[in-house]
Parts: sequence; C-alpha cells; structure tokens
Amino acid sequence: MKQRLEDLLASGRESISAAGYESELQDVRVRLLGKKGELTAIMKGMGQLTAEERPVIGALANKVKEEIESLIADRQSVLKEAAIEGRLQSETIDVTLPGRRVKSGSKHPITLVTEEVTAIFASLGFGVEEGPEVEKDFYNFEALNIPKDHPARDMQDTFYIGDETVLRTHTSPVQIRTMLKYEPPVRVIAPGTVYRRDSDLTHSPMFHQVEGFLVDRDITFGDLKGILTTFINRYFGEGIGVRFRPSFFPFTEPSAEVDMQCVICGGSGCRVCKNSGWLEILGSGMIDPEVFRSVEYDSDKYSGFAFGMGLERIAMLKYGVNDLRLFFENDYRFLSQFA
Ligand SMILES: [Zn+2]
Repeated sequence: MKQRLEDLLASGRESISAAGYESELQDVRVRLLGKKGELTAIMKGMGQLTAEERPVIGALANKVKEEIESLIADRQSVLKEAAIEGRLQSETIDVTLPGRRVKSGSKHPITLVTEEVTAIFASLGFGVEEGPEVEKDFYNFEALNIPKDHPARDMQDTFYIGDETVLRTHTSPVQIRTMLKYEPPVRVIAPGTVYRRDSDLTHSPMFHQVEGFLVDRDITFGDLKGILTTFINRYFGEGIGVRFRPSFFPFTEPSAEVDMQCVICGGSGCRVCKNSGWLEILGSGMIDPEVFRSVEYDSDKYSGFAFGMGLERIAMLKYGVNDLRLFFENDYRFLSQFA
C-alpha cells in the first residue's frame, strides 16, 4: 500500500504540472482526490492492515493528500497568472494610433439660404409664420382670388389629394391664414416647402419658397420697391441694379416681376442670364382688394404688398450652383462644400 501511495503521488505530480488550463487541473483533482478517486480506492484496503501498520499508512496517506493539494494550488496560481498575462497581451490597445475621424454634418444650402433670407427680413421688422403643406383649396386658391374656373389654376400643376385638398403649390396660403389670425398691421415672411406636378432639368416636384407680405395704413408701391431693393442689395451686394417689370398674378394688382443685375457676369451678358444682363428673382405686387375681402380686411383703410421667391433659385445664384438636382441628391461631395 505504501508503494501504491508513492506511485499515486508521483503520477499526480506529473499530471498536475502537465495541466495547461484550470479546467484540466480540476479534472486531475477529481481523479486523484475525489470520492471515487484513486486515493479513496487505495484507502479502501486499510481494513486488511495490522494495527501497527494502520497509523503509519494513515499518516502517509494524509501526507500524500496534502502534498497533492498543495501542488494543485501552486499550479492553479501559475495558470491564473498565465491567463491574465494572455488577456493583457491579446487586448493591448495602441494609444498612439490615430483616431477614426467622424464626419460631421452641415446645414443644407437651402437651409442656409432660408436662414439668411429670414435674418435680413427680420432686421426689417418681419416676423415668421408657417402653415400646413397639405392645404385646403380655399387657402391655396379661392381666398387668393383664384376661383375654380380661373385660368390661373393652369399656371400651377397641382397635386390634388381630394376635391378640396391639395399639396400647397405656393407659400401664399400662409398669407391668408395669417391675415385671418391677426388684424393689421402685419409684417410677415413665410418660408416653406411647396409642391407641383413638374419634374425636369429646371423643375423639381418639391421645392422651397419664401413668401412675404406687409399690410398697414398708407402702404404704397414705393414701400414694396424700397423693401425688395434693400433685401437684394443686402443679400447679393450693395449697388446691384434692380428693376421692376409689369406682370400678372391673380392675388396682386398691380403686379411686378423683380429682376436684378446678373451676379455672374455683372450685367455684360452670359449663359445664366441668357445674355440679357438681368436675372428674374421675385414676383411681387400690391395685395388685390379681392384677397382683403376674403379675410375681411377693409381695403379702404388698409393696403399692402406681397412677394414670393424660389429659394432654390436664390441659392443657385448666391452659391453659383448650375444644376437644380444637386440640391436633392444628397451627394456628400456637394453638401460638404457648405460646411
Ligand atoms: Zn449674366
């Protein structure tokens, strides 16, 4: 029995030092010292020993058991350390590597233009109003002096949602909503998204306009010219020539298209201005008494003017963009130029 215990210790020592993982070491412990392990198996022979042999073998068995336990404990701490070392090696972070750059977004050019235009009119005393993009026929057409049978409806290719509901074709319905809400004096601009059934190189079915209007006592065409000339000079440059051409809109009388001197060629003629030296940028006019009637303003007491412009066109001229589609394609190379 003494020999068997010594053999057990020797083979145990070998298995313990050979264990490469903590789980393997655990298996070795069970095999040597477990309830059904090798030491237990040897000790079952104690009963056949003489009374003199028994304490000697008992003491030896205890010694072997302690020795194996201490070997296992030592091996375990070695394996633990190796595991930690291994993790440190594999999870090393090189803090000297350059970081990954996160590309930050920037404002869309149409947003920039909207903000710039709004800021100029705000400095002239105009507040900002907004209205719904899905609009009642009444606000989009009827109240603006465009009845159902009016030929002016053909000027705008409308998206109809129902008989009385449209996607607004211009920002002018905000004029009606605002005038129904407030008594004069009112001085408001209304930037927003508008929709028309139109899509080609120079038209997009969704685009942006800014509407502006002013109603008070004694407002004349001179006020209209003063405000719009001031805006154009502040936005495109002092000294830029501005001219007013007679035109027609159902909701203004008289009406005028506003041109400014070509900002690309300075007025000498180029492809953008079709060699005329002038660029059309605004529609405007004195608010028609018929419009005042539909919002119950007294046209004997009050007068006013209104104007509207396409923000894409303003952006194209301001930033020298030659293709309308660039505003809607979300190409990073285009948009990043406005950061
Ligand atoms: Zn030109």
